[in-house]
Amino acid sequence: MQRKNSKIRIVITAGPTREAIDDVRYISNRSSGKMGYAVAAEACEAGCDVTLITGPVSLPIPNTGRARFRVISVESACDMADAAIPAFRNADIAFHVAAVADFRPAKRVRGKLKKKQALKDGNNRVTLELIANPDILWSCGQIKREGQILVGFALEASNGERNAREKLRQKNLDFIVWNDPSALNNDRANVTVLGREGERIPIRDTKSRIAKRIVSLALERWRHLQQQQIPKQLQTPRPRRSRSKR
Ligand code: C5P
Repeated sequence: MQRKNSKIRIVITAGPTREAIDDVRYISNRSSGKMGYAVAAEACEAGCDVTLITGPVSLPIPNTGRARFRVISVESACDMADAAIPAFRNADIAFHVAAVADFRPAKRVRGKLKKKQALKDGNNRVTLELIANPDILWSCGQIKREGQILVGFALEASNGERNAREKLRQKNLDFIVWNDPSALNNDRANVTVLGREGERIPIRDTKSRIAKRIVSLALERWRHLQQQQIPKQLQTPRPRRSRSKR
């Protein structure tokens, strides 16, 4: 089983991103990276070729002892996009578990922004202009090839299932894991996996067992797609021999 999976290339994004205001301050979120790291550990456990692209977290790198495991550490959403989009081009399966910041400061101040300078209009308020970050998962959905599997995660409070299904469609995903916000920074989670073929699989368990289930669902779908592609290859007409050689 493990040797069988050794050629399956899996990319995982994990953790939060940090969006710099200046050289010492940033905007971020409470993502611990636990779910993404659990997915990476399970993908390694399944014997796959794994690339983990991680934002800053305080978790140990999963020590799986496997040779085919590389880690790319990034900080901002733009750094994560620069690593994750090219990695997806060469991947079979990608799990986008990272809590990517939706916005970043429009301009990064060199050094440390002075308090006096920030408060210059004298009303005790500071205005920080934000701009939208690239949606990495959406970009991967745009370049997805036949046979590749793309899995997203969505943290949704209200109208959760409808929003998650909408993201599944908009971002061209195969599965979306709809999380409730209690999953943040927790060892357990309450998720529902929604699939493009209409699957709806609720799972309430530890992140590590949820990760195992999600990895095996994605591997199963990937294998199914590969098998569907075989008949097409067999249908490809062979080059005809020239008449003179008959
Ligand atoms: O749209 P929303 O942020 O809820 O989508 C969540 C999913 O999209 C997650 O899989 C997350 O990793 C991914 N995402 C991304 N780039 C962004 C925002 C979210 O890859 N800028």
